[in-house]
Amino acid sequence: MGAPAIWWVRRDLRLADNPALVAAAASGAVIPVFILDEVAETHGAAPKWRLGLGVAALARSLEAAGSRLILRRGRAREVLRGLLSETGAGAVHWNRLYDPDARQRDEGVKAALKEDGVRAVSHAGHVIHEPWTVETGSGGFYKVYSPFWKAVRDRDVEAPLAVPRLHAPETWPGSDDLDGWKMGAAMDRGADIVARHVVVGEDAARARLDSFIADKVARYDTARDLLAVDGTSGLSENLTHGEISARTCWQAGWAAMQAGSRGAETFLKELIWRDFAYHLVYHTPHITRRNWREEWEAFAWNEDAHLKEVRDWKRGRTGMAIVDAAMREMYVTGRMHNRARMLVASYLTKHLLSHWKIGMDWFADCLVDWDPASNAMGWQWSAGSGPDATPYFRVFNPETQAEKFDREGTYRTRWLAEISRTPPDTALSYFDAIPLSWNMTARDPYPATPIIGAAEGRKRALEAYENRAF
Ligand SMILES: Cc1cc2nc3c(=O)[nH]c(=O)nc-3n(C[C@H](O)[C@H](O)[C@H](O)COP(=O)(O)OP(=O)(O)OC[C@H]3O[C@@H](n4cnc5c(N)ncnc54)[C@H](O)[C@@H]3O)c2cc1C
Repeated sequence: MGAPAIWWVRRDLRLADNPALVAAAASGAVIPVFILDEVAETHGAAPKWRLGLGVAALARSLEAAGSRLILRRGRAREVLRGLLSETGAGAVHWNRLYDPDARQRDEGVKAALKEDGVRAVSHAGHVIHEPWTVETGSGGFYKVYSPFWKAVRDRDVEAPLAVPRLHAPETWPGSDDLDGWKMGAAMDRGADIVARHVVVGEDAARARLDSFIADKVARYDTARDLLAVDGTSGLSENLTHGEISARTCWQAGWAAMQAGSRGAETFLKELIWRDFAYHLVYHTPHITRRNWREEWEAFAWNEDAHLKEVRDWKRGRTGMAIVDAAMREMYVTGRMHNRARMLVASYLTKHLLSHWKIGMDWFADCLVDWDPASNAMGWQWSAGSGPDATPYFRVFNPETQAEKFDREGTYRTRWLAEISRTPPDTALSYFDAIPLSWNMTARDPYPATPIIGAAEGRKRALEAYENRAF
């Protein structure tokens, strides 16, 4: 066997369908390495904690396969250089990411390793179609989802790769201790509560996909919008950490569609929304920090994240029950129903006229499925400042949305303790998760009126939009 190869693990916490791992294993012994690096260090509280759980699960899978996961902390470039000289490895393989922070890091790593004469090879493993492989007729990139979907829906997608045989190096380099990293440090009291709701690791992700295809995909097209129904796959937390590949999900959805499952095409379309988010983030990286439509930079959003009404929005105390229920669902489970994400984003950016960045950052702190591309796209879509935007004048009415998608009030009762005489455990668990400093109890009276009503907020938003300077 030749020199070992390093598999640099990032958002690909899996052994199956992993092109970087397969390539590393092809030449001999593999040294899997996860680095708590300059990008991972900046993750919000819940994403960082959830990443730690995923890393632990991958370490267990590797040990079961006769291998190990080496853990190191520091700037990726220096850590990799150090490991290469410690181990004599001749190559580093990783799966490509497309958001600006990851790209900047990876470009630096690639240049440095090439300078050292090391083979630094990146692979396609995080999306179904890489951003530059989908082009408009004139060779540009897509700014609107529907033609993007049409461009890819009939493309062949390669079959997922099998797990390769893993050979251990003659000697293993030393590893940090994951517990010592304290990746849940910023979770305050929340970790114990959110832990009840996460589904971690490659085997669990695969089981989740299988049960979704067997039991739910047929009705997915109608059930996916109902707030109280568990009608979606729940796979976003696994996809974002790469515990399952998007290609594996696509192939399972495709097979279901071929077998006549009615909801399967809708599921495939949603997977392509994820690819579309990466398409946008790759071609227009400013989407993660600035208004995609530059003219919206001139709009007078409230940018004060400490304003009382923003604080009430974050804590589920706006008095608009559907919004508050959703914000609490996120705090307790680390996830939020997709329709609810659209609703709370609309309420913050339109009814409260607060900057989408405030919401995006709060989601980036609370979501276990936080994804830099989908989160930025979702917020700019909701605010009306993005490319594939709901026109700014389409303001979600939270009351009619609640009537339509939570007719019986089941979702609101599930998450909002103050509106019931005997609240369910789900609603009560919110008070076990939140910081004591928020000083909230289930017995507090619920706001008699919302911060701003549905009709009043809509009117105010439309006036602000009509009077904008551009
Ligand atoms: C304001 C806002 C913020 C969002 N932030 C995130 C985020 O940080 N991370 C994230 O993964 N998704 C985000 N989404 C998209 C979407 O809400 C979630 O992907 C979805 O709720 C995940 O649930 P699920 O896995 O059961 O999805 P399913 O309905 O089962 O869909 C299957 C998969 O398709 C992808 N998908 C579905 N809807 C979308 C979408 N609208 N955009 C992109 N991909 C999609 C996801 O990977 C999902 O797991 C956001 C949406 C909005 C409106």
